[in-house]
Amino acid sequence: MAEIAALPRPGPAGPIDSPDALLAYERSLDCVHCGLCLPKCPTYLLTGREPSSPRGRIYLMRSWAEGRIAASERLSAELDFCLVCRACETVCPAGVRFGEMMEHARDEIGRARPDRAAGGFPRRFLLHFLLPSRSRMRRALALLRLYSFPPLRALLRPLLPKELRRREALLPRVPARLARLPELTPAQVGRRGRVAILRGCVTESLLPETTRATAAVLARNGWEVVAPEEPPCCGALHAHFGEIERAQALAKATIAAYEASGAETMVVDSAGCGSVMKEYGALLARDPAWKGRAVYFASRVRDVCEFLVERGFEPPARELRARVAYADACHLLHAQRVSSPPREVLRSIPGLTLVPLPETELCCGAAGIYTITNPETSRALLDRKVEILRKVRPDYLANGNPGCLLHYAAGLRGEGLPTNAVHPVELLAKAYEAPGR
Ligand code: SF4
Ligand code: SF4
Repeated sequence: MAEIAALPRPGPAGPIDSPDALLAYERSLDCVHCGLCLPKCPTYLLTGREPSSPRGRIYLMRSWAEGRIAASERLSAELDFCLVCRACETVCPAGVRFGEMMEHARDEIGRARPDRAAGGFPRRFLLHFLLPSRSRMRRALALLRLYSFPPLRALLRPLLPKELRRREALLPRVPARLARLPELTPAQVGRRGRVAILRGCVTESLLPETTRATAAVLARNGWEVVAPEEPPCCGALHAHFGEIERAQALAKATIAAYEASGAETMVVDSAGCGSVMKEYGALLARDPAWKGRAVYFASRVRDVCEFLVERGFEPPARELRARVAYADACHLLHAQRVSSPPREVLRSIPGLTLVPLPETELCCGAAGIYTITNPETSRALLDRKVEILRKVRPDYLANGNPGCLLHYAAGLRGEGLPTNAVHPVELLAKAYEAPGR
């Protein structure tokens, strides 16, 4: 606590503006300071510092909200250091809703200090310019693919500022062609109904096998699949990084698209997006025109493995001989509390061996745009995962979040490990397509 005491004392921090942030502040009072969350917090594990722990951050947020410390650069940096992985929520006996608290604190402090955010221009460029437009995002990815051309990369890399060079190592590989999912995929067997899926801001382009497998597996199990072109983003990253108004606008567009699609369920193959969508009711709770629609929509959102297990799916008849390690995505395990469905899907595949993976509940460091805002910590957490995978040596690393998949893929590639990072539905789709004997 000594480090917290050293933070600047009352300064220009104003009172909390929004009623949602006030509610989040009131909920912070539920923390009983037991410290059970500390050993589960990645940033506390790495630093051993109280201000970098859930309990320390709650203390900081509360101190700021009560006007006892200023909205200083140091406070902002400490809050931005949090991965919002929500591992602290899973173990908290007092039911503290840490994610909600952090999102509102970042939003409020961000407005008090618009110059403060970690990640600087790349963060603003991504959140404000690229994510809200699918065409801009696709053009940016096309440029990134051009940059990945080895001779051009060798030429340009040394010219990048030092800061960008460090982040560049974790850039995703862009496929040769940017794929487009059909707007409608018909059910392959007796039609059970219609579901909507998310193209995602980058999943369709960077992980086309994942979106294709999601659509194929659903169609195989009797679901007609609609993939609306708009909106380009569900607002998850904006919410996590404290840009609440932008997140609300994208949430409304997502709800409207779902309503127009005529689907009964929104099936999501991205843990981060699914967790925010399931919380749209809270995000739009103060908007009378949208509150009811948001609550209903949230009740219709399911992670794809959760949906398959809940509604039933055909177990594959053919074998897929592979050793698979499943790594929980934080926003599936801690935010949505979905743990067994992805494992059930994997266990349904004949010939597949699910191998145990240590520290599966610990964040891999992807955390939305954490690779941009805190590259060193992101890398340290990834290195820890890669070290474990080097020992376990699975054929596949399965995970339910696109950001984590890209992050793991970069780490595995960098170390020359043969493990492939895939979504569990990709393995199910592969098993469906496996040749008979
Ligand atoms: S959300 Fe994750 S990183 Fe942030 S305080 Fe909780 S456990 Fe730590
Ligand atoms: S586990 Fe919950 S109550 Fe205990 S210190 Fe952490 S946030 Fe507070």
